[in-house]
This record gives sequence, structure tokens and C-alpha cells, in this order.
Amino acid sequence: MDNIIQDIDILDRNSREATDTVITSKEENTGKAKKLYIESYGCQMNFADSEIVSSIMKDNGYDTTSEFEQADVIFLNTCSIREKAEQTVRKRLADFNKIKKRKPELTIGVLGCMAERLKDKLLEEEKLVDVVVGPDAYRDLPNLVGSAEEGLKAINTLLSREETYADISPVRLNSNGVNAFISIMRGCDNMCSFCVVPFTRGRERSRDPHSIVREAQDLFDQGYREVTLLGQNVDSYKWSPEENNKAWLEKKEKQGEAEAIINFANLIEMVAQVSPDLRVRFSTSHPKDITNEVLHTMKKYENICKYIHLPAQSGNSRVLELMNRTYTREWYINRVDAIREILGEECGISSDMIAGFCSETEEEHQDTLSLMDYVKFDFSYMFFYSERPGTLAAKKLKDDVPLEVKKRRLQEIIDKQRQYSFERNKLDLNKVHKVLVEGTSKRSEEHLSGRNSANKVVIFPKKNFKKGDYVNVFVDDCTTATLLGNSVD
Ligand code: SF4
Repeated sequence: MDNIIQDIDILDRNSREATDTVITSKEENTGKAKKLYIESYGCQMNFADSEIVSSIMKDNGYDTTSEFEQADVIFLNTCSIREKAEQTVRKRLADFNKIKKRKPELTIGVLGCMAERLKDKLLEEEKLVDVVVGPDAYRDLPNLVGSAEEGLKAINTLLSREETYADISPVRLNSNGVNAFISIMRGCDNMCSFCVVPFTRGRERSRDPHSIVREAQDLFDQGYREVTLLGQNVDSYKWSPEENNKAWLEKKEKQGEAEAIINFANLIEMVAQVSPDLRVRFSTSHPKDITNEVLHTMKKYENICKYIHLPAQSGNSRVLELMNRTYTREWYINRVDAIREILGEECGISSDMIAGFCSETEEEHQDTLSLMDYVKFDFSYMFFYSERPGTLAAKKLKDDVPLEVKKRRLQEIIDKQRQYSFERNKLDLNKVHKVLVEGTSKRSEEHLSGRNSANKVVIFPKKNFKKGDYVNVFVDDCTTATLLGNSVD
């Protein structure tokens, strides 16, 4: 999952993945004695984790609140993907310092990737922080908060090879009641040289598919109509009844008994069979692992959305090798061709792009632009390279592309993306799109907003439709980021 943002925020309508986007807990009152306020930064995985955290704390006497002034405990669930993300958290901690001065019994905890990256250094650097907890240690939160309430500093940043929180049903935070995230795996075994995730989220492990199907069924029964299956690299999802131990998996594969293993294609089929009225999305795919079996399974089910987030990062094979992405430009194009062949031109494809990676030449940057000419992505998350401490690139490669060159190259990528987002949207004109309504349009109370299968935002007049409805909309206009039309139902 390369959930990184564009430094110059132009096209990203899915800003939930922007490092400076924050989602706060909702007001909840089930009569619990204490109040938890949680702010979540970074990727969808982090937001899904905050829902797990809220559930664990709920079972230990905490209701969530949207007012941090009311809270007994404040958690910041942090992102560490870029320096900017950590600076945002430090600024926020300074804000809470003022409250803590007035309310010394307040417990402040830092969770997530920044906690895992910095560990006890964070307790030294940020005196007001009482609790530091990594992404695999959330079950320990009630104990750690207990220690903090006795005036101790508490920390647990142990990473796990088993933990998937499969038995914990998330408390849906800030949800519109229509779409929800389901994390299907944790950690990442890829070692992209620019990325901190393998160090902050540990080794890859897949969650029991039956617990995933149960969660999807529960959500459907509660009225949700879309689930997004989350993983750093969903294509390497692999699970077996034998407690998911790797040795057993490899042995079975060698013995040609792979059918005993549930792979990602099997999983999306199992979730799609919950109900034809439950849309299934997933993020993030990896070019080296996405199979034709997954694409054919997507084709087989109308309710598996025809949209793939397939981060390219660069269009040049030498740079991809330095990034340790383990595929070449040609392989990436091969995967895009397979998507187009099996799922057609209307299948939405988005990407992540890094401008100005270590030693990237002007020609290699042109390769990235020409890859965008070839694929014509619907939208992308774009940023320039920012070295992260502890990563392979930080250890082995020189961050030698000057900042102004990085910014200029990023701007060229953004301009190219703007052009193709508009071009791709124009291909959707004069067609009827099946839209799942997510709510009222931000710009007009008379209009509704939803998304089509290709993950594009569609705005249309409200009439008697409501959130959670599927509406057929004839699209007759568009902007770079939005399709506009009228319902035909
Ligand atoms: S190591 Fe690579 S695949 Fe894994 S989360 Fe980071 S960028 Fe994504």
C-alpha cells in the first residue's frame, strides 16, 4: 500500500489517504464511564485500525467522543510515510499540551507507524506523551492506559507474526453507514527501498477468510452496501486452515495442493457471494503479484467493482530496480494490458508516482511521463521523494536530485495526470452509470453524491433517492474529478 499523497493537492478526491487528512472519533454514548478521543492520520489501514482500537477500549469502559476537551484519554493514530506526516503529529501534540496543563489526569497516547518507528525515543522527545503503542500491540492498550493512570510512562511496540485482530469487531468511526473498510491482512513482505511500512507494520500475515466474510455479512445486515478490503499488498493474501503457517503453505504449494489455500481471488469471490447488492472494492494491489485469476474473478461478479489501485511509482526500469519494486516497466505494462483485455477500457486504474527518486535522470523522468501517456490513469497520488530514516534507500542511496528539480518533475506529473483524468472522464459521457449513493453533495443540498464501479464520483439531482440506494445515472457532463448527470430511474 503506497498510501502517499501529492504534495501539491490538486486531483486527489480520495483525500482520505492524504497524510494531512485527519479523521476524528464520533460522539457515542452507551453510558460508559470514560471518554476516548481518537484522531487518525494517513492511510485507510490506519483508519481501520482506529476502529479496532475504539472497539478494544469500548470493551474496557470507554465511549468515543468527538470533543477532545471531554476526553479522559486522547489517542493519535499516526503515519510515518513522510517527514511532513510526523511534523503534523508533533504540532497536534503541542495543542494537547495546553489541555494537559489544565487537566493533568488526561492520558495522551501515540499509536501507529510513528510510534513503531520512534518507540521510547518518542517518550523522551515528547514529555506529555504517556503511552506509545505500535500497530500490533493494541490489545495491550487497556493495561498501558492503566499504568499511565498510575503516573507511569507505558510502551509496547512489539511486532507480531500472527496478530490480525480477526476476532475484534470494529467500532465504525465517522462512517456514512454505506461503505466500510475491512482489513484482510497486516504487514508487508515487500521491501521497497523508500518505504517504512515493513519496519512499522512488520511481516505479512493474512486474516482468516471466514472472519472476513462474517464481518462483510454483518455490515450488509446493518445496511452497508460497500466494503473495501484493505492490505498493504492484497494480491499476496494467502490463508490456510493450518493456522496460516508459512512452512505449511509452501509445502502444500509444492505438493500441488494449492486448492487447500485461500488466495486473493478466492477471497474476493467469497465476499462477493455475501450478496449481489454488496459492492466489493480492495486496496492496494501490487503489479508483481496481481494475477489474471483475480481479474477473471472480478469480471465474473458485477458487484466486484471494476477499479484497481496499481501503484507504478516510476516508469523507468532502472529506477524501479533502485526502488526494489521487483518488476520492470514492461511487466507493469503487461499487467495494464491484461486489465484492459479482461475488464475493458472502462475499468478504473489509479496509481502512485514518485518524482525525483535517488539518481533519477531527466530521461528516466520522461519514462514516467510516457508510462502515464500509455496507461492514462484515472487519477493518481503523486509526490516527490522524501528520504525516510531506516529505509534501504536512506542506508544505501544518495538523495541527490535537487529539491527544485523534484518539484518541477512532480508538477509535470500532476499536469499530465490532470490531462488524463479529464480525458478518461470524457469517455464516460453519454452513458448510464450504476451509482451507489453515499450522501448529499458537498456543494448542493439538492444533489446527491456517490461513486460508479470505476470509483468515480458522480453528482446528480436528489429527487426521492437516499443514501445507500443504487441509482442509474445518465452522465452528460464532467470535470477533471467528477461526473455529472441525471438519474434515469
Ligand atoms: S514496502 Fe512497498 S508494497 Fe509494502 S507498503 Fe511499502 S510501498 Fe507498499
